[in-house]
Amino acid sequence: MSFVERLRAERDLPDEELKTLLETDRFDEELHKTADEVRQSVYGKAVYLRGLIEFTNYCKNDCYYCGIRKSNKAERYRLTKRQILDCCAQGYALGYKTFVLQGGEDPFFTDDVLCDIIAAIRSLYSDCAITLSIGERSEESYRLFFESGANRFLLRHETADENHYSVLHPAVMSLSNRKQCLFNLKEIGYQVGTGFMVGSPYQTTRNIISDLRFMQSLSPDMIGIGPFIPAKGTPFEHFPNGSVELTLRLISVLRLMFPHALIPATTALGTLHPQGRELGLKAGANVVMPNLSPVEYRGKYTIYNNKICTGEESAQCKDCLKRRIESAGYEISDSVGNVKRETVK
Ligand code: SF4
Repeated sequence: MSFVERLRAERDLPDEELKTLLETDRFDEELHKTADEVRQSVYGKAVYLRGLIEFTNYCKNDCYYCGIRKSNKAERYRLTKRQILDCCAQGYALGYKTFVLQGGEDPFFTDDVLCDIIAAIRSLYSDCAITLSIGERSEESYRLFFESGANRFLLRHETADENHYSVLHPAVMSLSNRKQCLFNLKEIGYQVGTGFMVGSPYQTTRNIISDLRFMQSLSPDMIGIGPFIPAKGTPFEHFPNGSVELTLRLISVLRLMFPHALIPATTALGTLHPQGRELGLKAGANVVMPNLSPVEYRGKYTIYNNKICTGEESAQCKDCLKRRIESAGYEISDSVGNVKRETVK
């Protein structure tokens, strides 16, 4: 059996074989084809849309790669509850069944403030999923958000290697806390997503293999990866972009290791390649995340340079994505798009 066939059958390979697979393009064609077969066997041709609401670009952290880190000059904004609800209304009218509230770690949004917003969305849209992407909080806070109606949470671990983590983050941030947050979220009952940047500064293939091993221990429902793109004004602003090719290869590897995962074709992929998201779907991804934030704020959520989809109204975004999804041979699903967990026999 080839590496790829074994990865499909066993959902795993020894480190050395994974290293070979990741460091060459020799297997790419077979990898993408096999990953697409596996994705279609679990999710068919469905692509799930997640309406992204970037509700604050304030952040108390200083991750070295991030354009909205607290030390970076950025025009800061926060959306009001009314503005957030308006975004949800627009998204719902467009057929979106998931709202993703994404923001920096902004102390303005206390537990009370967030619970009030989450509960309001939940009472208006009982048939929708509410996803949070708001960074690290206490287990108690996560529980309160869950009880208020949130049911999914995205928290990229970014790198599972302690040394690499310390190169990307200031010393006050801790990988062990990040990992603990992810396990707490699972324990509470969220559908949990994690992920990492491909080609972040100083990343090695060994680091990526550590990421895959960490994800095996977490068993995430969602896995988001995108190529690293430098952000102006950060310590890493002159580092090169991550590789689109390696990102696509990894999407396929992830699909074979985690057949049931929800994997987005990310905006970062679309930023580096005009057909990046279509290629992501063909490599095994099954989610896209159209932006629902008010157009006047989109250009301010500058986590990296040249981010796409900042100038279009939400309805235009949907039309554009629909065309892209169909041109890649898939179809938009109008379901809430929960993870399909494997039934244990
Ligand atoms: S990556 Fe997230 S936590 Fe880090 S500075 Fe940016 S918004 Fe804040």
